[in-house]
Amino acid sequence: AGFTVAIVGRPNVGKSTFFNRLLQQRKAIVDDVSGVTRDRQYGIADWNGKTFNLIDTGGFVAGSDDVFETEIRKQVKIALDEANAVIFMCDAASGITDLDESMTDLLRRTTKPVFLAINKVDNHERLLEASEFYALGFEHIFFISSMTGSGTGELLDAVAALI
Ligand code: GDP
Ligand code: MG
Repeated sequence: AGFTVAIVGRPNVGKSTFFNRLLQQRKAIVDDVSGVTRDRQYGIADWNGKTFNLIDTGGFVAGSDDVFETEIRKQVKIALDEANAVIFMCDAASGITDLDESMTDLLRRTTKPVFLAINKVDNHERLLEASEFYALGFEHIFFISSMTGSGTGELLDAVAALI
């Protein structure tokens, strides 16, 4: 029960870093349901008094692009089945990749709110480079650094406003 937010994105964009940061900072309880769901992590986050479930759709098997494609389809299915809103994470350090574009195509089909979070925006130079992500066409876009925490508050404010 409750409001659920899923974090999706290709491997290594920083989904787990963001997930862990949020749960640690807010001292939330990590609801470990391992065994049932080895391919994802569940947590409970609290942001300014709003509580929500957070899913890190993290699992993947390193390998070919085919494996990645299968994985991202699975992530999006989890997000659309289980979540009320989606954080779609991309990586400013790498720029837009083919997999980002594949995920964009899948996420465009949902009516659930999608927040595009461009991660690894650790400095001003990265912020300038990251403007290319406007081309993906999402209405809600946030530039964040899960490492420093920069921008994550604005993203979470927008998520919490839905609750
Ligand atoms: P995931 O596969 O999407 O869950 O990505 P991870 O959270 O495992 O992070 C992948 C790598 O990116 C790790 O080496 C992180 O330390 C690094 N990383 C995550 N967030 C940031 C960030 O905001 N800035 C930088 N520079 N590196 C980051
Ligand atoms: Mg991960």
